[in-house]
Amino acid sequence: MTSKKIPEGIFETSIYNFQQTAKRLKLSDKLIARIMEPKEKIEITLNPEKPDGDYVHVKVFVVRHNDTLGPSKGGIRMASDVTLDDICGLSMEMTWKTALIGVPFGGGKSGIQFDPTTVSEAGKEVIIRAFTRAVLRHIGPEVYVPAPDMGTNEADMGHIRDCISYSSGKSITQGCFVTGKPVILGGIEGRREATGKGCVYTVQAACQKMGIDISQTRTAVQGFGNVGSVAALEIAKLGSKVIAVSDVTGGIVNEQGLDLVALVDHVNVSGGIKGFAGGTDVASDEVLYVDCDILIPAAAQSQITAQNADKVKAKIIAEGANAPMTPDGDEILYAKGAFIIPDILANAGGVFVSYLEYTQETQREQMTLEDVEQRLYNRMFKRFGEVYDYSQSKKVSMRDAAMDIGVQKVADGIIARGLLP
Ligand code: NAD
Repeated sequence: MTSKKIPEGIFETSIYNFQQTAKRLKLSDKLIARIMEPKEKIEITLNPEKPDGDYVHVKVFVVRHNDTLGPSKGGIRMASDVTLDDICGLSMEMTWKTALIGVPFGGGKSGIQFDPTTVSEAGKEVIIRAFTRAVLRHIGPEVYVPAPDMGTNEADMGHIRDCISYSSGKSITQGCFVTGKPVILGGIEGRREATGKGCVYTVQAACQKMGIDISQTRTAVQGFGNVGSVAALEIAKLGSKVIAVSDVTGGIVNEQGLDLVALVDHVNVSGGIKGFAGGTDVASDEVLYVDCDILIPAAAQSQITAQNADKVKAKIIAEGANAPMTPDGDEILYAKGAFIIPDILANAGGVFVSYLEYTQETQREQMTLEDVEQRLYNRMFKRFGEVYDYSQSKKVSMRDAAMDIGVQKVADGIIARGLLP
């Protein structure tokens, strides 16, 4: 067990991972200083009035970490406990993720400090619109392009798109201001599923490299929202038995394999996993510790730490969520021999398909679902292969390999743009 003092938050994790990478890559101090700080960091306080007449007091954040390789890209997180530091950390992760997956974007992220489960759809729309009006001058196809993240969805992106075009008195926007929109408003088929499916493709690629027959595996998934539910359904399609799933309301285990279609129906009706009859109820975090081959943490950050990493039994861990593992949790699992597919690779499918949505809208063309899925599949396998080969040749973990490749690309971009030193 490590005795290093490594703080446990997204921000600290991101900074720590970057500093380790900068050391490995021997980046100059000037370059490190230039990359470390976000380019723009905004905090605004809003007091929108909900349809029920109540005012809410909401802090919102927009951080553009880097735009060396293109406009900053990254989702909007809506949660009562999200902080400016979290958004700084997440936007930094986006910088490496976009570079690694190979799309011409930089890193950004937004936060809305509000619990979306406490308002009606109409109430949420008011908050989303207030957020959009407040940060309008920081959003744009050449500046920052948001998308869904935890607590936000396709419908919210539709409201953002409407609010932006409405503000300029036009029916459409010139170029893509937001991705993950409903298809009817210029969104792209397959975006909603892209992160979960992309994550499963990296697991499939890992199984191939490791000589594991995925149809003989058992999987556990933490989080049953956009990423977790799609990942569970997709891996089940490949024959893996999904034996445990959790969300904020609780966890459920069935050694024979969960009936995921029935579970999705149950969650759609009741709002959570709790009360699902097709398995044994367990505490939410127990799902991390079940005896399985594959674990997909697809919920919140810092779920696997030095305190609980020893209890995780999975052989392959694919980080559907951003920063679900602290560096010391990661170290323990790596030492135990777990094959960890890091977040900037495992959950990059969403931003890759966002890029397809961006180009589709910019060029006013339409891509079919088949095109999107084929391109997603090819890209995830290709990047997985590059990270895997790097990790084998340099004898480093998949996380270090992915970080080295992503950070080096950003550093190369900065040097190519010039003005250094
Ligand atoms: P979501 O809001 O749709 O779902 C989150 C799920 O996690 C819900 O089921 C919620 O109940 C559950 N959850 C939250 N805290 C939990 C806990 N402590 N234990 C168990 N379950 C918990 O969010 P999402 O879009 O699926 O995002 C999930 C993660 O994936 C986040 O870390 C997000 O940053 C990351 N991510 C999402 C996308 C995307 O395209 N949506 C892309 C890349 C990364």
